[in-house]
Amino acid sequence: MDIVINAIVLKSVDYKDNDKILTLYSPEKGKITAGIKGVKKSGAKLKFASEPFALCEFVLAERAGRYTVIGATYIESFFNLRLNLLKYYVSSVVLEIMNLLTPENEPDAELFSLAVNTVKYINYQDAEVNALCAFMLEFVAFLGYGIEKINCSGCDCIATGRVFFSAKFAQFYCMSCYPGDGIEITLETYQSLYKIFNKPLSKVVEVELQPKSALKLFKFLNYYLSLKTESTIKSASALVEFLS
Ligand SMILES: [Zn+2]
Repeated sequence: MDIVINAIVLKSVDYKDNDKILTLYSPEKGKITAGIKGVKKSGAKLKFASEPFALCEFVLAERAGRYTVIGATYIESFFNLRLNLLKYYVSSVVLEIMNLLTPENEPDAELFSLAVNTVKYINYQDAEVNALCAFMLEFVAFLGYGIEKINCSGCDCIATGRVFFSAKFAQFYCMSCYPGDGIEITLETYQSLYKIFNKPLSKVVEVELQPKSALKLFKFLNYYLSLKTESTIKSASALVEFLS
């Protein structure tokens, strides 16, 4: 039986001489893998649909629970991601998080929109790292580890001196209230987070953060996500290296 889905290619790996295996995320099916044949031959007509970031309407043939791509039409190519290294590195982190940390065959239309909208912002606008940080904040909430509150958990102040964070409870503390089971973060990171906290993506990309502050915030969110999920986001290290 053939099915039609809208999906973004999260990952593409070589298979046999001319084929690839794609990891797709779609609102209809969630994360699935699908083979795509002959795309490494020159002039292959579905080559465009076998590259990471391609957002397409895919026609899949399903046989014994396995999918093969038999047709595809571009919805978006996100061409800028291939022309600009920063955009490429930043959006690679979004795809890797989606690939590594979402369950298979569990559709979530909101998560699909979140990932695709983030990649869209990165492709078309500046403030790429802001968009990535906003994505990560929403993604941790999706996993059930959302940071609900940014004020000090003890006295409800907005910290202005030393700031501490307990990853266990996703809570911040000022110096006077800190119970001692977390890490100290820089005031700069805390203030950057404050500026984008609880804002929609469209507003987050308008927030002015110094590149160094945005990088620090990203490192902090990556620390938190990695700790909670016990995983290493490889493309995060590549991005940090690129920006340092
Ligand atoms: Zn306090």
